[in-house]
Amino acid sequence: MICPRCGSNHITSQVITETTSNEKVKGFGWIKACIGFLLFSLPGVLCGLCGMGKGRRSTKTSSKVEYTCQNCGNRF
Ligand SMILES: [Zn+2]
Repeated sequence: MICPRCGSNHITSQVITETTSNEKVKGFGWIKACIGFLLFSLPGVLCGLCGMGKGRRSTKTSSKVEYTCQNCGNRF
């Protein structure tokens, strides 16, 4: 492993973990609750919120490795 900028082999690697949650799916639960309210009043809201809690909310965990050059500070 060498730095693509300066060609040095003084490279440190770091694992970065990112967790992203899908807000759109969350919003869909609330829309469902609103539709439920319009159709069935209060029981509809409860059904909509139950559907939301059932885990259509998707969380995505992605990890990537970042390399930092000790010579020039280049990250890649
Ligand atoms: Zn470098």
